[in-house]
Amino acid sequence: MSILVVMEQRDGEWNRMSWETLAAGQQLAGELGTTVSAAVIGQSVNAAAAELAGNQLATVHAVEHDLLKDYTPDAYASALRQLIAKAAPSLVLFPHTYQVRDFLPKLATSLGKVAVSDVVAHRVEGGRLILVRQLFQGKVNADVRFSADGPNFASLQAGAYRADQLASGSAPVEQFKPTLNASEIRTKPMDRFRESTRAVDLGAAELIVAVGRGIKEAENIALVQELAAAMGAELAASRPICDAGWLPMERQVGSSGQTVAPKMYMAVGISGAIQHLVGMKGARTIVAINKDANAPIFEVADYGIVGDLFEVVPELIAAFKQR
Ligand SMILES: Cc1cc2nc3c(=O)[nH]c(=O)nc-3n(C[C@H](O)[C@H](O)[C@H](O)COP(=O)(O)OP(=O)(O)OC[C@H]3O[C@@H](n4cnc5c(N)ncnc54)[C@H](O)[C@@H]3O)c2cc1C
Repeated sequence: MSILVVMEQRDGEWNRMSWETLAAGQQLAGELGTTVSAAVIGQSVNAAAAELAGNQLATVHAVEHDLLKDYTPDAYASALRQLIAKAAPSLVLFPHTYQVRDFLPKLATSLGKVAVSDVVAHRVEGGRLILVRQLFQGKVNADVRFSADGPNFASLQAGAYRADQLASGSAPVEQFKPTLNASEIRTKPMDRFRESTRAVDLGAAELIVAVGRGIKEAENIALVQELAAAMGAELAASRPICDAGWLPMERQVGSSGQTVAPKMYMAVGISGAIQHLVGMKGARTIVAINKDANAPIFEVADYGIVGDLFEVVPELIAAFKQR
């Protein structure tokens, strides 16, 4: 059993989730008593491969081809199929990015395998790997085992593993040039959709006050905004608040928003769905205000206030202003 982590980069810029996946690969390799290697794919990936080689890995595979300059599902799946045939890993891990969601099912199916997507945790029992993924928007945790021999595939959700736990080292880099033909690539990459530049960098904020659906009406956001101002904190939100247009998308925290790791994250009227938790559970201290004592946010909170936010928040504002 050996593990291969497939990293994601674009024009030399890493997708940060790749590092979390690499850390997970190292952790799994340690627990399963095996080795972990990593692959980087593109047209010119030597610099990226050299950077990757600074980690504790058995090998770094630099998968290069002109037809891998721009991402296409056909070329990526074909290149990886060839690399997997050569490196023979039993488990291949990917970050759960949009790109991976696009090509991983195709890759796994072409090898007659399944891909376990959106993994949030794992454990090893009797030498066997069990992956945990969430169903019904995080209400149920499902244990998943691979029933067949590898290569088995899994993608890991953002925030599930910690990149700051990566072990450094010095790994050899192996060049791998897959055989690809332009005729087998059925999609034509166009200009990439560019998101508007973010005016708010929640990732750099030390204090964050985040508001959720418990706030009930758009007009009430001002209350939480006042609390954030009194604390000198950035204002953030759960997805329904941004979907409703009550706050701009750039303030959304979670799997489809920003990932934050402030010194303190205060969740106001947020239930704590997994898609929200993955974006903020790296905060050093989590404070939750929720009127439902059973809200899942309290499972990750260091301090919890069970109460009506419309009573608690004005009290907090007054207290902060007094200080
Ligand atoms: C593919 C996908 C991606 C997603 N990405 C994200 C994402 O990036 N970020 C994100 O946040 N969500 C995301 N979601 C949505 C997520 O599943 C939840 O629906 C969402 O996080 C819930 O937001 P909420 O906690 O504000 O609302 P709710 O779940 O409705 O919770 C509101 C909470 O407020 C409390 N409350 C109500 N009134 C009061 C009061 N007066 N005082 C105190 N507490 C009160 C309630 O008890 C409840 O716990 C995603 C979902 C999917 C399927």
